Amino acid sequence: MTLHPIPNLIPTTTEPTSARDRAIITELAAWFDRAARPLPWRSTPRNPYHALVAEAMLQQTQVSRVVTYFTRLIARFPTLDALAAAPEQDVLALWSGLGYYRRARSLHAAAQAIIKHHAGVIPTNLAALQALPGVGRYTAGAIASIALGQPAPIVDGNVARVLLRLEGQDQLTTQPRIHQWAWLRAQALAHACAAADPAGTLIARFNEGLMELGATICLPAPAQPHCLVCPLRERCLAQARGVQAQIPPPKPSKKTPHVAAVVVVICDTQGRVLLEQRSQAGSTATATSTATTTSTSTTPAPTTGMWVGLWQCPTLETLGRLTKAAALASAKELTQMRSGEPASVRPAGDFEHQTTHLAFRFHVFAAQAAACVRKGASRRWMMSVDLHELGLSSAASRALQMGLASAAVRQHAPAKPTQPAKPTQPAKPTTPKQTVNNSASSSTSRRNKL
Ligand code: SF4
Repeated sequence: MTLHPIPNLIPTTTEPTSARDRAIITELAAWFDRAARPLPWRSTPRNPYHALVAEAMLQQTQVSRVVTYFTRLIARFPTLDALAAAPEQDVLALWSGLGYYRRARSLHAAAQAIIKHHAGVIPTNLAALQALPGVGRYTAGAIASIALGQPAPIVDGNVARVLLRLEGQDQLTTQPRIHQWAWLRAQALAHACAAADPAGTLIARFNEGLMELGATICLPAPAQPHCLVCPLRERCLAQARGVQAQIPPPKPSKKTPHVAAVVVVICDTQGRVLLEQRSQAGSTATATSTATTTSTSTTPAPTTGMWVGLWQCPTLETLGRLTKAAALASAKELTQMRSGEPASVRPAGDFEHQTTHLAFRFHVFAAQAAACVRKGASRRWMMSVDLHELGLSSAASRALQMGLASAAVRQHAPAKPTQPAKPTQPAKPTTPKQTVNNSASSSTSRRNKL
């Protein structure tokens, strides 16, 4: 393997490595050899393609959640070529439920860029790695060091916390300064790894050890770090001074805006459900007069760019909160916009969904389609057994299941006790539409009791 120089991040210091740094590196690498969790992307030797996929999935996401998604994606796309050749929708479908869907699109685009510009070989050069879609400084450093043996530093929240505590660094209070300090410290340690082991195996074990320690031992508040079992306990300045719980300082809390999302699960008489592809602008519907005048805010939701390209039931999003009556009015309007039957709209349930920057409240409704419902390139009628073919966010999937469950309850609801029919009056044959409308009214009252 040819190792290319790293133009922008190669440590330039000529300081000899201190004995303490040497001890930190070797002790942490040795601990990682003993204690590393067996994860599907930790093959021996490391596979750069697996590292690329794993690092994309691990951003903002816990390891335990990533394992299943990683295994499934690699089974479907065992090589970078296979991933690059796949339709984006197939990648999004495999990503459904993992969140942060921009990562899936970026991973797919990165695979295509590697095929196009690097003859299908993941570059070892950090600058070239960082030029790939979705690959930032941390991800480039992780791939370069762990899979390719380059002396590249890495810093994420876990690594920064470990380094700050290790050095007893409690003077830095702002995120930019903490970030800057942590990168410099990680860079010095990467340099020490390269000096001790030019072949590049030490940096891989050390960087993964830093990540592993932050994820399993040196835990963030409110959990306590497990210093008694920490391999760096003897080197840790925060532990020596008993200040590890105060490092790093808590981040200032931010107020998360509320977004009301009205979702209508519209089914047709054949049991198919209407799905729409989400655009760059956000919800598939546009707030109009009726919806917004009944809400607490007339400002469109700040969801531009969220869940782009994924599928969902017709949805209307509004910044702020909605009363039940306002949500129902919005649902009827949305159903009308899709040429459904507003009269058939009934509540299916509500739930909260938190993203990094927004606090959603989903108001889910079920409705029956009319004979003519608008169609378009970004709309599909799907049987529920085929829904796995589409990429849905976890929130859209939950809303869909809620609406379908409501529709199923309605279909299987026992008939209301009725007055005995007069023997002289034979029952009228009912059309499917009439059956739906009749049962809709009975199910609404039952749901209200629940
Ligand atoms: S001794 Fe404690 S605070 Fe220091 S690195 Fe280890 S777990 Fe973290």
